[in-house]
This record gives sequence, structure tokens and C-alpha cells, in this order.
Amino acid sequence: MKKGRRRICTLERQIAKIKQEIGRIGDLRRGSLSEQYNICGTPICKCKASPPKKHGPYYQLSFTRNGRSSTQFVSRKNVKKVKMQVKNYARLRKLLEKWAEFGTELSDLKLTVEDE
Ligand SMILES: [Zn+2]
Repeated sequence: MKKGRRRICTLERQIAKIKQEIGRIGDLRRGSLSEQYNICGTPICKCKASPPKKHGPYYQLSFTRNGRSSTQFVSRKNVKKVKMQVKNYARLRKLLEKWAEFGTELSDLKLTVEDE
């Protein structure tokens, strides 16, 4: 079963690569960032003009932690960083999914090859 062993090698290489990539991921956080525009309480303000010029954008992070959903204000100076952190988490999840997929195939193959 030469073909199976070759595939095992390929999968092991791919998994090793995924582990390396995961090790290089920087700061991360759960959640999604949204942009918001608000209307204020001042009676005469540009946000109530026609057409209205609402205040903002304000950035808000929505996330779930310990089964509870929550939101957090993100200051404009931190938006770029938080965006990157959210992206890193998405990347981690994608890599884990790939690892699990390759890992399952690899485990199946190992069981088959070892049986022979
Ligand atoms: Zn206003």
C-alpha cells in the first residue's frame, strides 16, 4: 500500500505547516466589528438636518463569552488593531478546521495501513 503511505507523508507535511502557521498568529479576539452612526440629544444639530448628518462612525465589537453575548465600544484609534485581531481569530478557526480535516483523513489512513 505505497499510495497510502505517500498520502500519509503529504498529510503529515500539511499538518506540520498548519501548526507552524498557527504558531505565527498574533493577537486575536472573538467577535465581529460593526460601524454605527448615532443621533444625539441636541435639538438643533446636523444629525437632525435634512438630509441628516449622523454622528460617527462609532465602532462596536459584538462577541460571545461563556455563552453570553456582549458588546464593547472600540475607540477609533484601536479599530485597525481590533480588526486585525478579529481577522486572526477567523484565520485560526480556518486553520483548525483544515487540521481536523487532514487529521481525520490521516488517522483513517494510518488505521488502514497498519492493518496490512
Ligand atoms: Zn447631533
